[in-house]
Amino acid sequence: MTDASIYLHIPFCAHRCAYCDFNTYAGQEALIPAYIDALIREIETVAALQPAPVPAHTIFFGGGTPSLVPTRSLSAVMDSLRTAFALTDNLEATLEANPGTVTAQSLAEMRAAGLNRLSFGVQSANPSELRMLERAHDFFEVIQSVKWARQAGFERLNLDLIYGLPEQTLPDWQNSVKRVADLAPDHISMYALTLEHGTPFGRWAARGLLPLPDPDLAAEMYEWAEEFLAGLGYVQYEISNWAFPGQESRHNLQYWRNLPYFGFGAGAHGSIDGLRYSNVLRIKTYIDRLSAQKSAHLFPSADNPIRASALPPVASPALVNQTRPSLRQSMQETMMLGLRLVQEGVSDADFRARFGMGISDAFPREVADLLRLNLLEWQNGALRLTPHTRLIGNQVFIRFVGD
Ligand code: SF4
Repeated sequence: MTDASIYLHIPFCAHRCAYCDFNTYAGQEALIPAYIDALIREIETVAALQPAPVPAHTIFFGGGTPSLVPTRSLSAVMDSLRTAFALTDNLEATLEANPGTVTAQSLAEMRAAGLNRLSFGVQSANPSELRMLERAHDFFEVIQSVKWARQAGFERLNLDLIYGLPEQTLPDWQNSVKRVADLAPDHISMYALTLEHGTPFGRWAARGLLPLPDPDLAAEMYEWAEEFLAGLGYVQYEISNWAFPGQESRHNLQYWRNLPYFGFGAGAHGSIDGLRYSNVLRIKTYIDRLSAQKSAHLFPSADNPIRASALPPVASPALVNQTRPSLRQSMQETMMLGLRLVQEGVSDADFRARFGMGISDAFPREVADLLRLNLLEWQNGALRLTPHTRLIGNQVFIRFVGD
């Protein structure tokens, strides 16, 4: 079996940012201890249903703000993963952190717990933009956090940025990228601001209250950053991600290659043995579901032996949704995800090994059209986006889900 990945969702934030639509909650920090207990129980329960410890090569604590969790609790989760899974020697273990929520000591403790990669939500180096995004940190705290992380022994660091912000100019954006690049992280992610329904930003934009940059300016920001980062030796390996060679996020590559991952925690998603599943969203419901009493109906017990035999490969008491994509849907997903990898693309040999037919056999009309329009190209036996298509990738992806 391909080595799996493990995602752990930590749905706590000190403050809910106006643009965020992640499954995360402010003001519920009192539930962190019970949540961590539930998370460990979910890991143990799911692992106990596997015939043998599953090899896993990446772990990712995402959120939310995982750095709000006390390090002894993170350490306890790492211990439970070591017991429940066969973690590989080359394990990549990442934690998302907000600058300003870490200290030199907490970072040293995280490193001692076995974490070896950090992803900091920087978003901008400009004070007015950070205020507008309602982020609690300033760029000085970013510099401090990076320094402390390196002192603690973290060699692998990702810094996240957002472009296309209201009233953002090209020089504003260039300042943020340059200041982040000055810190020489081995990985940089850059996302366009998206206006999600149900967020304050989404509502303000719908009422015309957000002076967003026009799409041409946002495109110019992206293209300038592409060129600037290439000049510093960063390789763009995914539409929104750059890394020094060999420092790509192996955890995220697992998603883009459509390979198996376990999801633990409230609202977490997973994909195991061809089954896609998701957990209940709300923290309290998640904790309740993981309590021994409420999970009893789902799991093997002396008075419920029959139900146990019908369990799916991942059966968590927190599960609310599971689907088994058809072969066709799996092929579509593989194209949509894999084409995000702008260098690697989708290997025809891997596609054939997995689905028993080549990409052009599965999508003859789509591939022919997109090649003719110069939106896709073949490179070393893989199909990938042409360089000028990176900003309009969605228009290509959508062609693969047309039926
Ligand atoms: S800190 Fe991150 S996850 Fe939390 S509300 Fe803000 S953007 Fe969302």
